[in-house]
Amino acid sequence: MKITLLGTGDATGTPVIGCNCPTCQDALKGTKSQRTRFAVLVESSQGTVLIDSGPDLRYQLLKAGTRHIDGVIWTHGHYDHFAGFAEFHRVQYNVDVYGLPETLEYILDYLQFLHPKKHEREMYEPFNLIGLEFTLFEVVHPPVKKSIGVMIREGDTKVVITGDTQRGIPQKSIDLIMEPDLLIADAIVPPTVEVKKHMNTDEAFDLANEIGAKEVIFTHLSHFFAPHEEAIKEYPLGYDGLVFEFPVK
Ligand SMILES: [Zn+2]
Ligand SMILES: [Zn+2]
Ligand SMILES: [Zn+2]
Repeated sequence: MKITLLGTGDATGTPVIGCNCPTCQDALKGTKSQRTRFAVLVESSQGTVLIDSGPDLRYQLLKAGTRHIDGVIWTHGHYDHFAGFAEFHRVQYNVDVYGLPETLEYILDYLQFLHPKKHEREMYEPFNLIGLEFTLFEVVHPPVKKSIGVMIREGDTKVVITGDTQRGIPQKSIDLIMEPDLLIADAIVPPTVEVKKHMNTDEAFDLANEIGAKEVIFTHLSHFFAPHEEAIKEYPLGYDGLVFEFPVK
């Protein structure tokens, strides 16, 4: 399987409109500090699945050279995770969408002019798409009542995407996501910035340690980090377009 971080930004993206901070100034030059909104592309020999469809999706799919989407899994009903769905809907009709019943209901109410093929899925019940096994697991992202992360398995390979979450992920989820080959973790800010709905970098490192992740990469990043080339000396920050392949080549 191949995983591409299409968008590694938080809800505002970086640069933030109207911001003069060093990171936003760096991002305006088109460096890796430039971060579009959240989406992850999962590919196998059989097809292509998106985890979330942030508002920058058109640009992201063009850049990744993606020609067709076989399914979209939505983690939760926040604008920065679903609002780009219409970006390919007029190119490709009848897209299969997956998620918790309440998440699908909320998003499809917002996107009521679109009629994708809805597939309700429950937490902790694995299902197969494009030859890969996907499992949704509960995370904690108030005020969203039910928010999920996604675990993807292919043979012995295990990839975990936390989705938007605080550190207090339920034990049932922790037991499920133990020892992944790759943990893609929400780490919106360095610990110097206070945050309630997400993990900071300390908490994301702590989660990676607890579950024994072989590799961890941070995403959903804000402009509160130093410019990318400086910040990566301290943190394993992802960037838009970063690719992981399994088995590792
Ligand atoms: Zn978000
Ligand atoms: Zn800024
Ligand atoms: Zn969110």
